[in-house]
Amino acid sequence: MNFDRHITSHLAQKRQTISIEFSPPRSEEAGRQILRTAEILKEKIAPDFVSITYGAGGSTRERTEEYARLLRNSFGFDVVAHLTCVGSSKDELRTIIREYRDSGLSNIMALRGDPPKGQSDFRPHPKGCAYANELVELIRDEEPAFCIGVAGYPETHPEAPSPEVDLAKLKNKVDAGASFITTQLFYDNSHFFSFLSRCRAAGITVPIIPGLMPALSLEQVIRFGRMNGSSVPVELEDLLKATGEDPEAQRRAGIEWTFRQAKELLEQGVSALHLYIMNRSDSALQLVDRLKGEGVLNRA
Ligand SMILES: Cc1cc2nc3c(=O)[nH]c(=O)nc-3n(C[C@H](O)[C@H](O)[C@H](O)COP(=O)(O)OP(=O)(O)OC[C@H]3O[C@@H](n4cnc5c(N)ncnc54)[C@H](O)[C@@H]3O)c2cc1C
Repeated sequence: MNFDRHITSHLAQKRQTISIEFSPPRSEEAGRQILRTAEILKEKIAPDFVSITYGAGGSTRERTEEYARLLRNSFGFDVVAHLTCVGSSKDELRTIIREYRDSGLSNIMALRGDPPKGQSDFRPHPKGCAYANELVELIRDEEPAFCIGVAGYPETHPEAPSPEVDLAKLKNKVDAGASFITTQLFYDNSHFFSFLSRCRAAGITVPIIPGLMPALSLEQVIRFGRMNGSSVPVELEDLLKATGEDPEAQRRAGIEWTFRQAKELLEQGVSALHLYIMNRSDSALQLVDRLKGEGVLNRA
């Protein structure tokens, strides 16, 4: 069996990398949409790798596995399959980890996950993992060949008592065996740059990939900001409000904002971008085209 390349080997290349996040579909039509998006992105952007999320409460286990295999086998992508601790015992998690490996996957994103809908706090499975660092250890023990990614929070995880504690917990995940970090989305690069310096000062040396979500509307920016603890700069809010009720004008203004974010990151020497695209290709295509047009993104 051929196994995917490790994400760390992609990141070690002397070229900028682009990765894309997909979520498992909730309907047949949404499934077809993902495949259309994957096809377009493969042809027009050729992402270095893609990731596929794991639904709340383990609700998408089969679909995460199915789409990880599809994205890998039908499109040739190297795939990072996500896995959360929610609702699974350690034995169940071990089974999923082995299934991922049996599908040829080499990369896994180890997450704690959020509490299921209607539950305010995270309650670990009685025989499961309470935090992502425990899941990292479990993966390491079960399938040492996996390259493991973990989540990082430029604006601090909403449940953490302080940025310092959150950073110490992030370091635990890396010390447990994580080889790269992908960040929560942010709309203000200063949060990312400060996070990067704090990580390096704390001895976290693994690659850190900034996660960007194209800002498509004021409603979306506020909703995702609230959900993820990502603050919305007043300038972005004003920019989107200034477009009035015209959704297309809002979209253009929002993508312009994300373009400026991406441009600054690349100009400052960040060499990897992870795009949260909600299974749609348009915003990623526009972003990448503009970055190439401005000469800040150099890809063959
Ligand atoms: C890149 C990325 C991808 C994501 N993909 C998914 C996905 O596919 N599916 C999904 O459901 N969710 C996903 N999420 C959301 C994620 O599950 C939530 O943010 C969740 O609340 C925290 O997950 P974590 O892995 O960061 O948890 P952890 O690293 O376990 O941290 C959770 C909280 O506990 C604290 N903490 C960590 N370790 C310890 C410890 N040992 N002792 C005490 N406190 C500790 C941390 O400071 C933090 O406040 C993703 C987030 C990101 C940034």
